[in-house]
Amino acid sequence: MDQNQKYCDICGEDFKGVFYGKGSKYNILQCPNCDLIWSDPLTTKNFKETIDSDYWAEDVYIKEELAQKARFRKQLTKILKLDKNFKEKKILDIGSGLGFFLDVCEEKGFTAEGCDINQNAVKYCNREKVRSRVGSIDSFYKDNSFDVVFAFNLIEHLPHPKEFLLNCKRILKDDGVLILETPTQNSLFHKFARLGDKLTGYKLNYYGVNSDGHIHKFCNKTFEILKQLGFEIVINEKINSPINEILGKTAYLSAFNKYFMRISVPIVWFFANLLGQQNRAFIVLKVKNSD
Ligand SMILES: [Zn+2]
Repeated sequence: MDQNQKYCDICGEDFKGVFYGKGSKYNILQCPNCDLIWSDPLTTKNFKETIDSDYWAEDVYIKEELAQKARFRKQLTKILKLDKNFKEKKILDIGSGLGFFLDVCEEKGFTAEGCDINQNAVKYCNREKVRSRVGSIDSFYKDNSFDVVFAFNLIEHLPHPKEFLLNCKRILKDDGVLILETPTQNSLFHKFARLGDKLTGYKLNYYGVNSDGHIHKFCNKTFEILKQLGFEIVINEKINSPINEILGKTAYLSAFNKYFMRISVPIVWFFANLLGQQNRAFIVLKVKNSD
């Protein structure tokens, strides 16, 4: 069930994607207006296959619990600096998964609710008490009902991020904030991967965009365009994925490539930190007051 996407989801039909790269069964296109890149087709699976796929494997995520929580604690600390009255806020975590972020919120003494499209994840998350529901950002949530919406590692997986962002805006109160973490093109890893891909005649897509996986990859220019959707950028920072997580993704490579990655990744990782060109963007968007 291929879902083709020839124009930019954010900027609209006037902005047809231009060739950027390719994979085995897909092309990567780029928006001439906001530089967003995406895979065409967006997905090759139907909705049920997507939520049943290995991607949601619980055991894989449970293994990452400690590292994930450490990361969430850091991000939450940044947010708490922005707003001292956080405890009174109504908070939603979209794509709550196994509930690690909700756990971290509870540790800090406030409650948040979540939702996720994966039933098994929600079941695990709710094993001690109900705090997440099966579903997405849909009509279940009333307009102007949340102060803070978190969506970590989510928008890159969505076929239609604009619809998602507008829905976030709808359920957020005036001055409410949307907090995102997503891979960014403005990173040293991306630049090296891009160079390698071009030098090999687009045979080495290591910048992590593919149908059914990370469908979209954002960049600073795309975030600027989000202002036109009624958001203000409060924070736009870079963070590096833990080095083991990046190296973990090289498991399927040949011995030579693995060796090459083991040597080169730590070097790029170090310089990315030094130059502020880490591989992920941490973004806080505030809903612009309508008046
Ligand atoms: Zn665009």
